Amino acid sequence: MTVTVRFAPSPTGFLHVGNARVALLNWLYARAQGGRFVLRLDDTDAERSRPEYARAIGEDLSWLGLSWSGQVRQSERLDRHRAAEARLREAGRLYPCYETPEELELRRKLQLSRGRPPVYDRAALALDGVARARLESGGRRPHWRFLLDDRDAQWDDLVRGPCHYSARHLSDPVLVRADGTYLYTLPSVVDDIDLGITHVIRGDDHVTNTAVQIQVFEALGAPPCAFAHVALLTDATGQGLSKRLGSMSLRDLRDEGVEPETLVNFLATLGTSEAMGAVRSLDGLAAGFDFARIGRAQPRFDDAELRHANARYLHDMPFAAARPRLAALGLSDADEAFWLAVRPNLARLSEAVSWWAVCGDAIRPVIEDPAFTAAAAALLPPEPWDGTTWGVWTSAVRQATGRKGKDLFHPLRLALTGLDHGPELKGLLPLIGRERVLERLSGATKNGSSTSQVDSEGKNLLSLLKNP
Ligand code: GLU
Repeated sequence: MTVTVRFAPSPTGFLHVGNARVALLNWLYARAQGGRFVLRLDDTDAERSRPEYARAIGEDLSWLGLSWSGQVRQSERLDRHRAAEARLREAGRLYPCYETPEELELRRKLQLSRGRPPVYDRAALALDGVARARLESGGRRPHWRFLLDDRDAQWDDLVRGPCHYSARHLSDPVLVRADGTYLYTLPSVVDDIDLGITHVIRGDDHVTNTAVQIQVFEALGAPPCAFAHVALLTDATGQGLSKRLGSMSLRDLRDEGVEPETLVNFLATLGTSEAMGAVRSLDGLAAGFDFARIGRAQPRFDDAELRHANARYLHDMPFAAARPRLAALGLSDADEAFWLAVRPNLARLSEAVSWWAVCGDAIRPVIEDPAFTAAAAALLPPEPWDGTTWGVWTSAVRQATGRKGKDLFHPLRLALTGLDHGPELKGLLPLIGRERVLERLSGATKNGSSTSQVDSEGKNLLSLLKNP
């Protein structure tokens, strides 16, 4: 038996981190088992499903690095859903119901007030042909419920352990709406059977669906899959993440500079007893995948922690991995020395663009004390320069001027970069180069303008570079 899993989003919005976690767990399990990962688009809601969301789902999964070995759209499998409906009808497992939502709600409230479980009371089963005809001639169209066998639902959940639902607490699910369209319950089972899905890994908001879907599997002559229900994520404050609000969409995170590897590693360890260590490849994560490590409690998705993890990832990223990404940002000339100099300062990769400009473009040097910078300029060692040049130079400047600590370094940083913060100058100095360093120490820029104090323009530049 080849393990086959599916990720089944509805293309009614952008994927958020909660969806991504479910997709990832499916993918990792399939990979760990040498199995298949199928993308199933649950697009039966014609009004809310959009092709642009379907496209975005594919793009977002690819961005995460999650490839799929097949893709289906539920909307293209309607004939299979119809055939299953016919089979259930023939087997006497579907019965027509006429209650309006308001009537059902009233009954529910009544049951609750009497301390009974709010399950459907099967009143429609008692209707005879005459009663049904009267309702229909009054304009009511039936919806169709699946007649559950009177037995408890049980399965051994890969995450939640043994699950048991008493038959008393289960309502016959509505499978077919009055207009003939299907609710999620039936098409999902039909497609899982047809696609040979062996393991359904999904959010625990589907636990009650599973309790009834097991019987739908059986009524269609198929053994139910194995199930794993993972707890849904909350945000950092403990509130649920809502797809409709688009909160924490993968697009937003990508645009904010979160690297896919960071997100994948962050999500893979979320809700487990492990802390996120060094970033691993998807295969590395798959190798250690085990349902037993996934806890039942709702994990909190803390945005700030993700951003820290992202910064740590960038700080450790080797040049070979950074090179194509820098090229994509227009920095195809960036070399390893540049990368090693700036990476400890990055919260997101795109900030490298500003530091590239600081190294090579005309900047506005900020000169606080022209006599001091002139003295420093006179002591600049000859090229070639390397990582030791800064130390040699600043020792000489210290000796000559008597300045040390902040008094020594701060004015040099302002003159060389126009900024009061940034990567270590030891790394930047050789990248800026002697000619430009001399120019900047004299307060000059290539286009001739200069600033003698941290004036308002200088401050503007500071803020500009802080928020590229
Ligand atoms: N379209 C359903 C959802 O997004 C799929 C649930 C399932 O995995 O069966 O919730």
